[in-house]
Amino acid sequence: MIQNDILLKHLSTVFDPELGANIVELGMIKDIQHTDKTVKIKLALTIADCPMRNQIETEINRKLKLLENVENVEITITAMDQKDRTAVMEKARKKARENAQPTNVDPRTRVIAIGSGKGGVGKSTLSANIALGLAKKGFQTGLLDADIWGFSIPRLLGISGRIEANSDKKMIPYTIGNLKVISTGLITSNEDTALMWRGLMLSKALEQFLTDVQWEDLDYLIIDLPPGTGDIQMALSRLLPQAELIVITTPQLMAQKVATRVADMAKRSFIPLLGVIENMSYFESNTGEKFNIFGEGGGEALSDKFGIPLLGKIPIGENTNDIADSGTPLINQENNSVTKVEIEKLINNIAIKLPPIIDETCTGRLAKVFEELSNQ
Ligand code: ADP
Repeated sequence: MIQNDILLKHLSTVFDPELGANIVELGMIKDIQHTDKTVKIKLALTIADCPMRNQIETEINRKLKLLENVENVEITITAMDQKDRTAVMEKARKKARENAQPTNVDPRTRVIAIGSGKGGVGKSTLSANIALGLAKKGFQTGLLDADIWGFSIPRLLGISGRIEANSDKKMIPYTIGNLKVISTGLITSNEDTALMWRGLMLSKALEQFLTDVQWEDLDYLIIDLPPGTGDIQMALSRLLPQAELIVITTPQLMAQKVATRVADMAKRSFIPLLGVIENMSYFESNTGEKFNIFGEGGGEALSDKFGIPLLGKIPIGENTNDIADSGTPLINQENNSVTKVEIEKLINNIAIKLPPIIDETCTGRLAKVFEELSNQ
């Protein structure tokens, strides 16, 4: 008969990939017995139909059968109770903190990534306005243009020039009042350097923007993600465990389907979803009549599907967007268009619902996941 501590030692090489720790230290092994050539295990998962269940079971089987005298492995799955789940959450959070890559972004900065399923839905326009709006409210705000090759933030903010480095070789962001901006567009305007950068993996570029930039103490960091679900989106939770996501969609049902992929990706990577913004929702005439030019319902459908709030519905701007595209963001324009008014409401909504993290020392990311799990 094999001693339990030897069995446990083998089992401690089985990792729960989502929680980033081994199943023994997570307290998932509730009972273990070895009789004849069979090992019987009681395995407690966070929820019984945990998506990682098959993978964990296969791994347990594989690892234990490496031992002499083990031919059968019988696993009984149970679901953890609330107390166990809380304990696991604590351990997993601690792990997440220990394993997080050192970035130059303070753990108390509220990081809001803004994503979309496809281009052209107004993601950069809204990112620029939200970041600027929060900065104008007095919050120290960073705006990271993570759309490495499709950058448009410098143009949307009407800024140009090259950012410089300090004596520690950290990049100094372009600063407008309380807003600090980093974009590939501020590093290179020259094709040759652009080509050099193109050789880098996109996630590496994001990592540089997080580690080699002198962000200092920020209340908010707004990240304008490239459209879709590529490298950068995947790298985000690894690099910045405190990142959370807002998804932008337009009202068409098809657009909402594409946006669903981004939200799904976020869930899989444990990036909490903060809410949905529906852009280009409707056109409002001078007389206040509303026309649903691009259909309707996309924003609501997405928010219902993921159980997250619809943070705003931004109407189609008429002429104002030409001015916006050439460097005067909507919230800085004199014309009080309905689009501007709705964007201002959205910014207020964000500042109220997602206030800066003042005193949170841990990410809260897994806490939210577990809250969700325990509500299921
Ligand atoms: P994305 O970042 O999703 O590719 P952009 O922010 O570059 O999209 O916006 C695409 C185009 O749509 C731009 O010309 C922009 O001015 C315009 N646009 C964005 N939001 C609106 C809106 N609410 N009304 C009218 N035009 C808009």
